[in-house]
Amino acid sequence: MQLVRTIDEARRILDAAREDRMRIALVPTMGYLHEGHLSLVDLAREHADFVVVSIFVNPKQFGPSEDLATYPRDEEHDRLALESRNVDLLFAPPPEEVYPEGFATTVSVGGVAQVLEGERRPGHFDGVATVVLKLLHIVEPDVAVFGQKDAQQCAVIRRLVEDLDLRVEIITGEIRREPDGVAMSSRNSYLTDDERGRAILLSQALATGRSVIERGGSPEQAEAAMIGTVEGTESVRVDYLRVVDPDTFESPRGDARELLVVGAIHVGTTRLIDNMKVGTPEGPAGFRSES
Ligand code: AMP
Repeated sequence: MQLVRTIDEARRILDAAREDRMRIALVPTMGYLHEGHLSLVDLAREHADFVVVSIFVNPKQFGPSEDLATYPRDEEHDRLALESRNVDLLFAPPPEEVYPEGFATTVSVGGVAQVLEGERRPGHFDGVATVVLKLLHIVEPDVAVFGQKDAQQCAVIRRLVEDLDLRVEIITGEIRREPDGVAMSSRNSYLTDDERGRAILLSQALATGRSVIERGGSPEQAEAAMIGTVEGTESVRVDYLRVVDPDTFESPRGDARELLVVGAIHVGTTRLIDNMKVGTPEGPAGFRSES
């Protein structure tokens, strides 16, 4: 595995891979890698001859009161993990390589980027879209792999790729969970033992919401059941627990064939997000809209 920190070096290596007619995959990450990230690397390998992973804690996607300064980092561990998964190129630029002095461009996606996470984290998806577009231009991959864990981010990126006619296939990897159901996340490292115990409430709430819908309940009933699962627990605060359309992240229409239950909760000072798909290829059984 080659490790490079500059755009020029990355491009030189990638140009050579393209000359050898290799199919290139990109897996963008912020590092502090866990099995969720590594499952995306394995998925990338299924679709490409040359796998690139980027590690970049993107300052533009953190709000002023968010955790940029404390975001966990362990590049040595990450390098070894990626080497063991046969990654070809690790691109780990410093912030000034990505955003040199005078940088003044922002990519802003409308629609799906403006609700839920977009509403609660102003500027977050602008930061994501800006860095992802840059990474796609630097690497020029045939495929780019993102995790369903950040379902709304996936929808935003699909929108960006479609709207700007980017020549890249977007692939989404399933959420990897701990044995108790908690979605793997670099931010789980912030949790104390007590908080880690309470973090399970998020996936439990989502599973409850999913089963309400699958038994023919309405989104409103599912949302009430999800909130009921979490409410009243010490040091846990619901940000949102919603049933949404998986493309728009708005309330679903009555004829929706696939739905998503999505949630964000605060456990202590840590904000966790998760989601689950609801329904079958035939559509969720008996789903009724009350709106
Ligand atoms: P991050 O380092 O948090 O920016 O995540 C990098 C990529 O890994 C994103 O596409 C995430 O959606 C994905 N990812 C994070 N956690 C998981 C997980 N538990 N399972 C699968 N993919 C994940």
